[in-house]
Amino acid sequence: DSSLGLTNLPIELSRRALQKKDFILTIMVVGKSGLGKSTLINSMFLTDICEYVASIAPKTVSIEAKSVSLRENGINLLLTIVDTPGFGDSIDNTNCLIPIIEFLEKQHDNHLKLELGHSTPVCDLRVHCCLYFIQPTGHSLKPLDIQFMKTLSNKVNIIPVIAKADTLTPEERTEFKTQIMKDITENDIKIYEFPNLLGDIEEYKQNKLFKSKVPFAVMGANTVIEINGKKVRARKYAWGTAEVENLEHCDFVALKSMLLHKHLQDVIDVTDNVFYLDYKRNKLAQILS
Ligand code: GDP
Ligand code: MG
Repeated sequence: DSSLGLTNLPIELSRRALQKKDFILTIMVVGKSGLGKSTLINSMFLTDICEYVASIAPKTVSIEAKSVSLRENGINLLLTIVDTPGFGDSIDNTNCLIPIIEFLEKQHDNHLKLELGHSTPVCDLRVHCCLYFIQPTGHSLKPLDIQFMKTLSNKVNIIPVIAKADTLTPEERTEFKTQIMKDITENDIKIYEFPNLLGDIEEYKQNKLFKSKVPFAVMGANTVIEINGKKVRARKYAWGTAEVENLEHCDFVALKSMLLHKHLQDVIDVTDNVFYLDYKRNKLAQILS
């Protein structure tokens, strides 16, 4: 099935969709250039929302937001992808985080001003989740990975992913995941925690399985090939084919399902009820003091 699968949304979300409310989802992608960020986003949303322009090692990080309206079976998703070209590409990356933090806070600030009646509505670009791309080295997190996730984890939902998972063997992948989770725990980094799904036992089990796949080992592809009469997104090698949507080949389906189907409302709620509220509290305290 080459659809977005928005109809697989949990019941309460489908109901919301029936009330003709749009979903507004803003995803930020962060990671060194060439890690497959644009390809993954395009694979996930089946549209060329991101370009494949290779940046020539820019000196500073730029922030680029692109929006697209996706429609499926009466459900509207207003998707914005915030790209951060230049992140981690310099020799000295000390100032890499600043423009990203500024962008995140600016969006909260816009929303606060609106709430206080100080401005007219602008596009709500509060970032609901940040996909952080880890280089598939098979070793451990780099200082910049730790610095980024540690600093940003109290500002945005961070979902770590291992880029280009097809370049690691299954054993390497398992070991790398264990090492990354160890680094995350030891450095006291709080990544987004997917909720448990109670109710249906099958759903509970699948959710638990997908949850255990964090950090998702993902891959993307721009090419569609035919396997057994079915068109699939895949990367073709001399020795075989790596299929994007095959759970035995990578965790793409797990990430997509967790983010877009099972927990779309939760990442939005956490952004509202935790990160935005935190920003608002601090800001108002500043103003009053
Ligand atoms: P970005 O700079 O992070 O946005 O990376 P791009 O999406 O532009 O991809 C950079 C290069 O890596 C391109 O040549 C892609 O074809 C390739 N690429 C993208 N995703 C993958 C992947 O999952 N595995 C492999 N092996 N290559 C990939
Ligand atoms: Mg890109």
